[in-house]
Amino acid sequence: MNKQERIQMLKDVVNINSTNGNEEEVADYLLKRFSEYGILSQKVQYAEKRASLVCQIGIDTGKTLGFSGHMDVVDAGDVSIWKYPPFEATADDGKLYGRGATDMKSGLTAMAIAMMELKQEGKALNGTIKLLATVGEEVGELGAAQLTKEGFADDLDGLIIGEPTGHNIVYAHKGSMNYTVTSYGKNAHSSMPELGNNAINHLVLFCNEVDRYVATLTQKNEILGNLTHNVTVINGGNQVNSIPEKATLQGNIRTTPEVSNERVEEAFGAIIQKLNQQKEVELELVWDYNKQPVFSDKDSTLVKNAQIVAKKQLGEEMPLLGTPGTTDAAEFTKAKKEFPVIVFGPGNTTPHQVNEYVDIDNYLEMINVYKEIAVKFLD
Ligand SMILES: [Zn+2]
Repeated sequence: MNKQERIQMLKDVVNINSTNGNEEEVADYLLKRFSEYGILSQKVQYAEKRASLVCQIGIDTGKTLGFSGHMDVVDAGDVSIWKYPPFEATADDGKLYGRGATDMKSGLTAMAIAMMELKQEGKALNGTIKLLATVGEEVGELGAAQLTKEGFADDLDGLIIGEPTGHNIVYAHKGSMNYTVTSYGKNAHSSMPELGNNAINHLVLFCNEVDRYVATLTQKNEILGNLTHNVTVINGGNQVNSIPEKATLQGNIRTTPEVSNERVEEAFGAIIQKLNQQKEVELELVWDYNKQPVFSDKDSTLVKNAQIVAKKQLGEEMPLLGTPGTTDAAEFTKAKKEFPVIVFGPGNTTPHQVNEYVDIDNYLEMINVYKEIAVKFLD
């Protein structure tokens, strides 16, 4: 593709409004474009108007490198304060403006074009490049979870997530877990508390126990630091002179590989069990969200190759970083085999903001970077 065609394809993808849904239109567009290059793709339906897309190039033997990007974008917010309409991608002064320009339709499109161009050039690959374009990343990594469950990630030997990192390579991110605890008590007038059972008091017991437990988790990850825990929502009671019969709280934990999600689940379960043995305490714990931490070996072929290729093509050393935020890799790494992951994609710090944009040069250069990393990785 020439430069104009590469830019036009990104505009086409940004112009599809896939705000928290409607990803099938993006999938259909990609499917059609891939077919122009003789690449067959498969849609994996998630819900009405929502489908992930999987396709691959190369040969059946050898290693498999995954390219992955999500097709959904977040809400554009107040459209009237955008410089240009969020779903009419506009180039201005070397930047392309539009919702998803950075997060992450530039990364997704760059990966798709890298595959189309490699195919068109007849490049002999020593393995497979597999694209996993997902639905619902922004609201719980829904597509990645479905694709992993259905086995689409089981053959991966390495994975690049094209989320925006600019000139940095991310090789680790924390996991994320959300939970709700409900405390059941009994109503009574606050002048006669002995007739009631204070649900809020029992939630406080839980908070204190959890704090004590988290304080014992002192193992630090080399790049991600410590596990963190925060109670972020509390609700309970309905009148100041009544003993509350029900109270709930929600919390979020950002996990590291040193303290696995499973270990945290067990520990919280044990705390609840222990407290429920006390008289009148009735607590119920539900896990609402459970995403694994991702941590790759810095010396793995994927990380090393990405650094070498990026330095050669972009003319600078790419710092290796960890981030607290989660990605689709938190689901894909639940696949059968273990494999290294990097997050490396065009973009900047404007995701989820008004006037989101990507530097066009950054987008274009990443197409070439993806091509070379893939060829080198499979060699
Ligand atoms: Zn994203």
